[in-house]
Parts: sequence; C-alpha cells; structure tokens
Amino acid sequence: MKILLVEDSQRLRTTLERGLRAAGFAVDAAADGIEATRYLAAYDYDHIVLDLGLPRLDGFGVLRALPAGGTRPRVLVLSARDQVSDRVDALNAGADDYLVKPFAFEELLARLHALSRRPAESNMDVLECAGVRLDASARRVDANGTPLNLTPREFALLELLLRHRGHVFARASILERIAGSASEASDRSIEVVVFSVRRKLADAGCMGLIETRRGAGYLIP
Ligand code: CA
Repeated sequence: MKILLVEDSQRLRTTLERGLRAAGFAVDAAADGIEATRYLAAYDYDHIVLDLGLPRLDGFGVLRALPAGGTRPRVLVLSARDQVSDRVDALNAGADDYLVKPFAFEELLARLHALSRRPAESNMDVLECAGVRLDASARRVDANGTPLNLTPREFALLELLLRHRGHVFARASILERIAGSASEASDRSIEVVVFSVRRKLADAGCMGLIETRRGAGYLIP
C-alpha cells in the first residue's frame, strides 16, 4: 500500500510519516498542495492522507485535480475544521473519509484499513459520460438533458458500466451484480436489458455509449 501524505505542519508530517512507515505503508510526503499534485502526476498511490488547510493550493484544490472515477486513490481528509459544512464539502469534492484534528494515530490507521477494504469503484453519486448523466442517489438518468425512464435493472446496468468505465463485464458477471446470484434470470436476459438501455439512449440521441466486446461482454469505454 502506497500513501501520499499531504500536511504542511512539519511536526505532524514527520510523526505521521514515521507512524505510517512503521505500520508497513510506503509513504511519500508533501508539504503543500502543489507539491502533492506533482507527486500525483508522477506516481500511483492507493491512498492520500490530505490536510485541507495547505499553502499554495489547499486540500480542495488537490481533490479537484484528481481524476474522476477509475482507479483514483482513496482520500482521507484531515482537518482542524470540524464544521459540518467543511466535512460535506470535502466529501462532495471526492474525499472518501474525514478525520478531525486532533486525532489518535490508531484511528487514522483504522480509517485507512477501512478504506482499503472498500470495493474499488468510484464513490461519486453523479456519473457523467458523453451527454449521459446518472445521479445514483436521486435514481435519475438524463441523456442530452432528456430524462430517461429506466427500469431498476436497466438503471443498475447503466450505473455499473458508468462506475467502472473501461472494464468489460461478461453477461454472467452483470447478471450477478444487477440481479443477485440467486436470481432466476438467465445470462440471455442481460442482452435484453442492454438492448433496451441502448434503445432508450438512442431515442434521446445518445448512440454507441455501451460497446460490445464479442465473446467477452459489455463496457462503456
Ligand atoms: Ca494545515
């Protein structure tokens, strides 16, 4: 597990760096937001421990610079601010968890281990691609601004493919994820769901979003 630690207080940075190394993590440490974005452009990290109040570019700026979705690192935000609005802002900006200073090092470790156990997927509520906008919490999909009327299975299929863009899902794997492994439905029924989602997208002017990989499955690239 590789961590980028971003903290401007030298004392706290040194203490956390030592502690995280002793706990078995590989750690790079940055003292401000610009340095953090340079590390992020050059290396891949599993996690970022990110202070919000930073010189040059603050923690929100670092969050905004992260790529959306895909294999972005999980972000644990550290902040002296304990306002609910800061916490909500950080989570909305893409943070995965939030820890208010002062905290016990054991708690930081516990949160990092919890983040590692989360399934690798985008945690964002709103997923967008090529004119299609899916709001997972409002259970709503628009294509080119037109609301789409999707069945729960159609919605689940589109959400799955949008959350894991670039990943090819076999029919059996889609079936298991959107219908549950105990479902009576067959692999074949996934073709029907895909066909129907494609038709509804096409009616709204969105063609070719869901691609077929012959013999492998479906994806949104
Ligand atoms: Ca700070």
